[in-house]
Amino acid sequence: MNVLHIASEAAPIIKVGGLADVVGSLPVALKSLGITAKVALPLYESIFTEHEQALELLGKGAVTFGGKKHWYTVYAATLKQTGMEVYFFRNDEFLSTGLPYFADTIARRHAKQADRFAFFSRVVVDYFTRKSSWKPDVYHCHDWHTGMIPHLLHHEYEQRVGTVFTIHNLAMQGIRDVSVLRILGHDRRKHTPEIDYDSADGNIVFLLQGILGADVINTVSPTYAKEITTPQFGEGLDKVLREHRHKLYGIINGIDYATWDPKKDTYITHQYDASDSEQVATAKVFNKSALYEQIGHTPPTDVPLIGIVSRLYEQKGFQLLREVEEKLLKNTACAFVVLGTGNTVIEDWFRMWSTRSPYITYIDRYDEPLAHQIYSSADMLLIPSKFEPCGLTQMIAMRYGTIPIVHSVGGLKDTVQHLQNGIAFDTFSGQALWRAIESAIATYQDRKTWRKLLQNAHKTNFTWQASAKQYALLYEKVKNRG
Ligand code: ADP
Repeated sequence: MNVLHIASEAAPIIKVGGLADVVGSLPVALKSLGITAKVALPLYESIFTEHEQALELLGKGAVTFGGKKHWYTVYAATLKQTGMEVYFFRNDEFLSTGLPYFADTIARRHAKQADRFAFFSRVVVDYFTRKSSWKPDVYHCHDWHTGMIPHLLHHEYEQRVGTVFTIHNLAMQGIRDVSVLRILGHDRRKHTPEIDYDSADGNIVFLLQGILGADVINTVSPTYAKEITTPQFGEGLDKVLREHRHKLYGIINGIDYATWDPKKDTYITHQYDASDSEQVATAKVFNKSALYEQIGHTPPTDVPLIGIVSRLYEQKGFQLLREVEEKLLKNTACAFVVLGTGNTVIEDWFRMWSTRSPYITYIDRYDEPLAHQIYSSADMLLIPSKFEPCGLTQMIAMRYGTIPIVHSVGGLKDTVQHLQNGIAFDTFSGQALWRAIESAIATYQDRKTWRKLLQNAHKTNFTWQASAKQYALLYEKVKNRG
């Protein structure tokens, strides 16, 4: 069976968050099940600059978009690390300038961003239905960026192929006024209930189109799949999701064990076997001192280190630290190393805290090698997300003998069990978070219990094996559509 994954990012080529990890590893895992899975990505400027030599020109095509004819060029590459085959779509007006996501004012960002991914969806469908000799049996669309694909495929291009739509983050929906339909060349005579329903308020929501139009939909953990059917987590779409419960699944993400392996990780100073808690303890001492030297972190005493590797948006819950700021600044029982960027208000808190406490260091950037070093040095990783579709950092942490401290929600609830393989708190409040941190420090000092936690964390299986099989079942279900 042939499956095409269509997404805005895929590791290691282009990564902003966990979506890239998934798109970079699930297709590889599917191979062992006899599925040929390939990936389609926009050819962003940085990919072209960094990988020009590796790109093979496959061909050109043209689509009408916004009433004008636009050319697109398709390249292919096979990734050295994983053998994954990727198609890249180039168009200098819509796809191939700047970063994947535009940093612009909100309104303009939406329009530009939506046009970029509407164009991408259009050319992907055009290429694989009209030009490519390799034909997908199933189009696996990831997040709002690709939400228009089921409609384009089933109605504009009248294809009877299966579609799966995966929601990695319900909060990002891709909203554009209805003019996008005209831009996409939508034939108004071809009314569909999905378009009528969605456009009634004057907007098209790409994520909603994915939900309505795909043959099956899933999100990236069983708990989040349930949560999004409630008003608390539904981001305004809970009613629609309840109505489509019959085709909504929850499949937990895996992580790539080759990328995240402390035994072979070339980014870290001291490699180690996380199944051996003595080795973990020794390696962390070496890695911590190398990390501290590199980032100029000088906590006055030898205390456990809590790492944070995260996008810094409200979703990730670090506003809870603001609620317990006084305790945080007085704290001398643990150190914090924080790596991440995002909302400037949250960034500024970390900046301010790091100037006021020698126990806190903040590094305001995206830095892959440093992320690996933090996973390998920290004793705990803090993940207090308000909501979390799956979350990968708690799984990565456990691979590195780093105990996650999590708010028990979404995928964090499915993967972290309190005092088994991590520390979990139920109430989303600063006080509950702080109690969890104190409990983690107390448990760390009880070496026997900590060792048990490390062993359980190491034994928890986060490979793609089981989840890839669940995706294969979904593909079987939809492949003979119509
Ligand atoms: P999300 O996709 O919501 O950002 P996930 O937990 O699913 O969260 O995935 C986050 C991924 O991004 C992990 O691979 C993590 O290591 C990585 N990451 C997050 N922030 C940074 C950063 N500042 N530098 C390097 N890697 C980061």
